[in-house]
Amino acid sequence: MNPKLNLKSLSKEDIFLFIEKIGLPRYRAEQLLSWMYKRHASEIDAITEFSKDLRSNLNGIAFISNLKLVERLQSSDGTEKLLFSLEDGNTIECVLIPDEDRFTLCISSQAGCAIGCQFCLTGKSGLARSLKSYEIVDQIIAVNKIIKAETTDNKHIPTLVKGGKGGLPDKKITNIVFMGMGEPLMNFDNVVEALWRIIQFIGISKRKITVSTAGIVPKMLLLPLKAPDINLAVSLNAADNETRNRLMPINKRYAIESLISACKKYPLQSGRRITFEYVMIDGINDSPDDAHRLTKLLKGVHCKINLIPLNPHSESDFKRPPEKRVLEFQKILLNKNIRALIRESRGQDILAACGQLRAGNR
Ligand code: SAH
Ligand code: SF4
Repeated sequence: MNPKLNLKSLSKEDIFLFIEKIGLPRYRAEQLLSWMYKRHASEIDAITEFSKDLRSNLNGIAFISNLKLVERLQSSDGTEKLLFSLEDGNTIECVLIPDEDRFTLCISSQAGCAIGCQFCLTGKSGLARSLKSYEIVDQIIAVNKIIKAETTDNKHIPTLVKGGKGGLPDKKITNIVFMGMGEPLMNFDNVVEALWRIIQFIGISKRKITVSTAGIVPKMLLLPLKAPDINLAVSLNAADNETRNRLMPINKRYAIESLISACKKYPLQSGRRITFEYVMIDGINDSPDDAHRLTKLLKGVHCKINLIPLNPHSESDFKRPPEKRVLEFQKILLNKNIRALIRESRGQDILAACGQLRAGNR
């Protein structure tokens, strides 16, 4: 471990205290934050706004940590999977999903996951460890830096941008979803700190950030108090306890009734809804009866549902249902005025799709 101080490990207050302690004026703290989070400085020497002497003094006591890009895979649909290594050698993945008018980054909150959902590849290998808040935020900084370098070089992004309305304004990540590896609410404090840094330092608005959870009920109730107005997605995947217990062992701890009750309590800004993810698995949760149960369960919940036909992988026997059944299921929901979209997750050819992330395993 580096004995020097990692400047990225500091919260906003701590950065100001540090700058004060070494006898510098307050505006230096603002500059430091801007260089680390907006201008992607990966070392103190990159901060050209600081004099040579100042940089050299800082270098004597501090450093700026970075994720190391290990591998990068590009899908035929434009999605990219990026594999990063952490200081201790653990690896994490994030997925960049370009659209006409936005770049969404799907980020990891843990290396691995302890929840063990039966259909999810990330869940199969267990939890290595939770990420520090700066490791969560660093995924965005690292990918922003890559996008910026490549758009300046005219490399890969322009093909994606071409279809857009005159291209993206300044080519950076616009939306964040906590749907990569890990269960964000099992790493609550670091995720909350990361959310604040994403909002305050990187400048992504709360409305563009979504935290997805398998249903850690007490933390779902706490999240809006610690980080208000973040969009919430809940991986539901079943409409009854028996099926959900089988698919998601966490349901034995927080049963469907308490999960739905927590969803009803989640404060929503006007025009916002909770998103339910429902992975459709052949013969398990995809019958018309399941759909009817779901409509009853979600009565009175301000929500929309994403129906995700299962992405199969080698470590489970589950299969994706025939398209006809997915459409029937959707129709039952729509008939009850529940917003239901069928979502094909992108990046399947590079195992970047939902539930297919497992660092180092392809
Ligand atoms: N742990 C959080 C965040 C990870 S999101 C959560 O579970 O919500 C991962 C998403 O991918 C979840 O919505 C999950 O239901 C979905 N998923 C997992 N395995 C999948 C698979 N094999 N096919 C399609 N979606 C899957
Ligand atoms: Fe973990 Fe989410 Fe996968 Fe379940 S679906 S194992 S909670 S990452």
